Amino acid sequence: MFGPPGAGKGTQAQHLVKKYSYYQLSTGNLLRNEIENKTIIGNQISELIGKGEMVTDAIVDNLILNIIKNEKYKNKIIFDGYPRNIYQAKNLSKVLNENNQKIDYIFFLNVKKEAIIKRIEKRKILEKRSDDDAETILKRYDTYMEVTKPVLDYYSNNRNFHELDGTKEINDISQKIEEILKV
Ligand code: AMP
Repeated sequence: MFGPPGAGKGTQAQHLVKKYSYYQLSTGNLLRNEIENKTIIGNQISELIGKGEMVTDAIVDNLILNIIKNEKYKNKIIFDGYPRNIYQAKNLSKVLNENNQKIDYIFFLNVKKEAIIKRIEKRKILEKRSDDDAETILKRYDTYMEVTKPVLDYYSNNRNFHELDGTKEINDISQKIEEILKV
């Protein structure tokens, strides 16, 4: 699942988890768990996340490696929020390859900046995320445009790349994704 913050990646991933018993690998959720559990990593990253800045590649690489290597999740992973830069995209290909897995589908949920800001303001009330305030949203969006969007160009020529209008109703998007998965 690819797209800017607030595009609906997590929502669509959760739908697929319920329907097909896939596994949602959200690096953001894993990182927030570390903060909540006050682990060593959690202490290192809470300030960065609070400011809307990226966590170091080494930390997220390690989190995804543990899941990819786990037989339980083999060929069932939905990546949500990873890869977020070109280095991570290359690392993901390498690690998947080493573990006899591959990327089967890429879904790009396209939502423009103005819509995202409105959505995240709503989410802040529901989820109380510290990085959902107005200033941090803008920072996260800028980070997306600067370092994450190039990943889109890296993948967009793939046969399995699908761009979806992320402003459509949640159910309509889910339906589109399911149609593609059935092909
Ligand atoms: P998310 O829940 O995906 O919006 O992620 C929340 C925050 O976690 C981001 O703004 C980053 O600070 C951090 N984060 C999540 N995934 C990554 C990643 N793949 N690489 C670096 N930082 C990440």
